[in-house]
Amino acid sequence: MRHIDLASFGGHITGTGSRSRNGSQYRVDPIGARQQMILDPHVHLRDWSQAHKETIYHAFWLADRLGIRGLIEMPNTGPPLTSRMAVEQRLELAAKAADRLQSEGGQPPHYAMHIGLARNPEQIREAVRLQRAFFPRTAGLKMYAGHSTGEMGIVEGSAQHQVYATIAEEGYRGPLIVHCEAEELIDNGKFDATRPQSHSEARPAEAEIRSIEQQLALASAVGFDGHLHIAHISTPEGVALVQAAKDRNRRVSCGVTPHHCLLSLNSQSNLERKQQGRGNLLKVNPPLRDEERRSRLWQLLCQGRIDWIESDHAPHAPDEKTGKQKAVASGIPGLSGMNLLYARLKAAGTSTEQLKALRWSNALRIYRLPWPEADFATEPPAVDISTLSEPDGSPLYGGVDPYPQSEFV
Ligand SMILES: [Zn+2]
Repeated sequence: MRHIDLASFGGHITGTGSRSRNGSQYRVDPIGARQQMILDPHVHLRDWSQAHKETIYHAFWLADRLGIRGLIEMPNTGPPLTSRMAVEQRLELAAKAADRLQSEGGQPPHYAMHIGLARNPEQIREAVRLQRAFFPRTAGLKMYAGHSTGEMGIVEGSAQHQVYATIAEEGYRGPLIVHCEAEELIDNGKFDATRPQSHSEARPAEAEIRSIEQQLALASAVGFDGHLHIAHISTPEGVALVQAAKDRNRRVSCGVTPHHCLLSLNSQSNLERKQQGRGNLLKVNPPLRDEERRSRLWQLLCQGRIDWIESDHAPHAPDEKTGKQKAVASGIPGLSGMNLLYARLKAAGTSTEQLKALRWSNALRIYRLPWPEADFATEPPAVDISTLSEPDGSPLYGGVDPYPQSEFV
């Protein structure tokens, strides 16, 4: 695949939606039949103290439009999903959101969450108990091996070792999802908001590669018998490490996001050049990589070396993503990107069997979720994501969703 410039988005996907000018806003036609067949195993639905960024209800509404039939949520909510009380309240909130969407004629996706791991051994044991008690509404455990959004980083080797040792002692054999960026190779001081690409210097590719090596070694050292999943892998070197572990019959997998496959640092600088201050819309952890790494990652995805696609959907409010302040938030809305990535894979001639594995069946199998296969078995709708907007006609996510933005076209 050639380099994809963000500016080329929008005109390439055609679907059942159509676009019409309504003053300065776009109106959206209904997206056609309710075909909902993508499973997105990595989303941040915010809500609670972060409801200004995203809510479960809103994400369910958008997923319904995009053909995303299953969502598995990450635990760095405010408060985080690390206790029984938080888990129970979250499940109640998700159930209410589903009821509301259904009462409005929508079809809510299947929903499950990850339980977050903290550095305290008693909490780690409790997380395993919660995972067992609430499965399949809880799908797995999540560890942040580097600090990202939220205060959930378990960054020292000794603390990470304790996580693996404790869940192994507890006999946990389910999925452990890890955000891999080695803190010792991260220097957030290098980020300069006026030069958005500097984020990739603050959190270099080597930080991910080193962390993946560390996680594989720790899991092996304690005899962890569960499934280790490397989330949002962004480097071909990381994929090679995962492949080498698979070759040694380790239970390990990796997932890739639409943004790491379809956007590179070139896309980010182009965006910044065209619209100064907007390059930070693409600030994300782990960061976008250079074009060479991006294109190798895409090839590895096409070659079946990556187990599934995951959006890492992580919206922030517009004032948290733009402007010159040092603390520009990391994370981008990604649900529309999932639909786009699927369309790109299809256009690249990916086999039906592989598309099925990438868009739902590998995740369903590894998480052992009892969600009906029939819900995923048909083709997702082709959606012209440039037609998407909020129900009131305003731009999606206040204009910070980089995918549907027609002004980039
Ligand atoms: Zn994430």
